[in-house]
Amino acid sequence: MTINTADTNHETMTTDFIREKIRDDINSGKHGVITTRFPPEPNGYLHLGHALSICLNFSIAKEFGGKCNLRFDDTNPAKEEIEFIEAIKEDVKWLGFSWEGSPKFASDYFDQLYLWAEHLITAGKAYVDDLTAEEMREYRGTLTEPGKPSPFRDRDVDENLDLFRRMKDGEFAEGQRVLRAKIDLTSGNINLRDPVIYRIIHASHPRTANKWCIYPTYDFAHGQSDAIEKISHSLCTLEFADHRPLYDWFIDALPVPAHPNQYEFAKLQMTYTVLSKRRLTRLVTENHVEGWNDPRMATLSGLRRRGVPAAALRDFVQRLSVSKNEGEVEIALLEHCIRDNLNIESERRLAVLNPLKVVIENYPTPGPEWLEATNNPNLPEKGSRLVPFSKEIWIERDDFMEDPPKKFFRLAPGREVRLRYAFFITCTDIIKDTSGEIIEVRCTYDPETRGGNAPDGRKVKGTIHWVSSEHAQDAEIRLYNPLYLCPHPGSENDFIDDINPNSVEILNNCKLEPSISELNNNVAIQFERMGYFFKDETSKPNKLIFNRTISLRDTWQKIKG
Ligand code: ATP
Ligand code: MG
Repeated sequence: MTINTADTNHETMTTDFIREKIRDDINSGKHGVITTRFPPEPNGYLHLGHALSICLNFSIAKEFGGKCNLRFDDTNPAKEEIEFIEAIKEDVKWLGFSWEGSPKFASDYFDQLYLWAEHLITAGKAYVDDLTAEEMREYRGTLTEPGKPSPFRDRDVDENLDLFRRMKDGEFAEGQRVLRAKIDLTSGNINLRDPVIYRIIHASHPRTANKWCIYPTYDFAHGQSDAIEKISHSLCTLEFADHRPLYDWFIDALPVPAHPNQYEFAKLQMTYTVLSKRRLTRLVTENHVEGWNDPRMATLSGLRRRGVPAAALRDFVQRLSVSKNEGEVEIALLEHCIRDNLNIESERRLAVLNPLKVVIENYPTPGPEWLEATNNPNLPEKGSRLVPFSKEIWIERDDFMEDPPKKFFRLAPGREVRLRYAFFITCTDIIKDTSGEIIEVRCTYDPETRGGNAPDGRKVKGTIHWVSSEHAQDAEIRLYNPLYLCPHPGSENDFIDDINPNSVEILNNCKLEPSISELNNNVAIQFERMGYFFKDETSKPNKLIFNRTISLRDTWQKIKG
């Protein structure tokens, strides 16, 4: 199944079932102010799926004149880290959104949540259970069998309060006791069969350090945090639909300051891509990639390092219709959005990735002479620059063939081609090394063709790029292929087995035109005819490194074939 993609005309008003609901709620007077939140758990870096959730929550707030909070769902200190909190903030800002006030944390509400847990106990709606996790699973029943009560289910309020306070005071070991809501063991919805709401975790929390050794579960923390922040529409993904009755049960059972509602939408899934923090964590911890921001990762930091513009991601997300149906997006759609953006925005430069030396025999001086080159044909205001031309230049090895087929319109013995922004050259000779490899091509040039046209009107079929040898900057360039070999990694085996062993190709003898050093770091560049490139964060003036963001055309089928 494929997700419908919205009209490419961005003027059309975005709409979907969530926005429709919000309009209804405004019209009926149910909500005056629209407040949403993006609630990441800081147990990993954000990925492309989160971009959908971020754009949805922040855009809705903006469209309806409301607010959107960034709230960290930091209820599990065993897996959460400050590094992830900082990375998430950076990613949200990079995507172009600003949250309301300072970032919020579920841990800001631990005192209040604790009091509400005592409130449930006092109301006879929660109890301390001593069953082990395994026993609890057995007692819970199955989809076809009802659960049966724990022998501790009918403890009285005083005993429950005493035990819960002693849990809080650190008297018990992890797993020894939990606090459970007392709801309905026969419910067809297993989430309502007395869910755990507090568990003992003896771990230091990134923000509350050792103040707590009991922590609320997601189910208990989330809705109540929404209520504290007066969230009007709590948007989450479909796997939480079965938790909604529980969400509502807590809100109804507690003296909360607001009554938020939860709405679920389908997760983003994409071909050739894995989007799950659990799996992305494995890629990192098992060293299949170089880190969370490896340019092959579908994380926002990986995409950023690779050179994918935030605007391209926003455009991509806007083209997906928010839906209740699980579907899958073709990676080609994301690539299309990236190319669309870079085609307009990127600075054009000349670079030779696999150099072959060309000597222009009749060039009168060693050079250089300076030729004008356009910076961006789509944005004339970006102007032009001068590139040096000289007697010795580099061309792309693939742009020369000793014995070419008929349809090869680039350089070959006796053939004439245009050098981009420069002259026509004709190949007169080839020099090979002892192994027979071509190491140099000899040419003549026609000085009358300066700028790229012959005064006598003669045509050439091919235009190739080049860089002056003496003036070239050396660079390493990394070319990326999809990280997985098949469209649905892990569908038939461990997804690790589907990793493409050739997902990166490193070229370390690339030649760039000298003006490259005048560009700022975060500028998208098109190396003409070779694709879109972005300076790597580890690049240094004396060791330039560029990542290919994306090729000009889709070559993946060819590479795979
Ligand atoms: P993962 O499955 O990758 O671990 P998660 O849902 O556990 O994701 P959270 O940090 O809890 O990650 O998610 C923050 C928000 O992002 C949640 O509202 C979640 O529903 C949403 N989200 C996560 N993955 C996707 C996705 N693939 N598409 C859309 N929204 C997503
Ligand atoms: Mg989660």
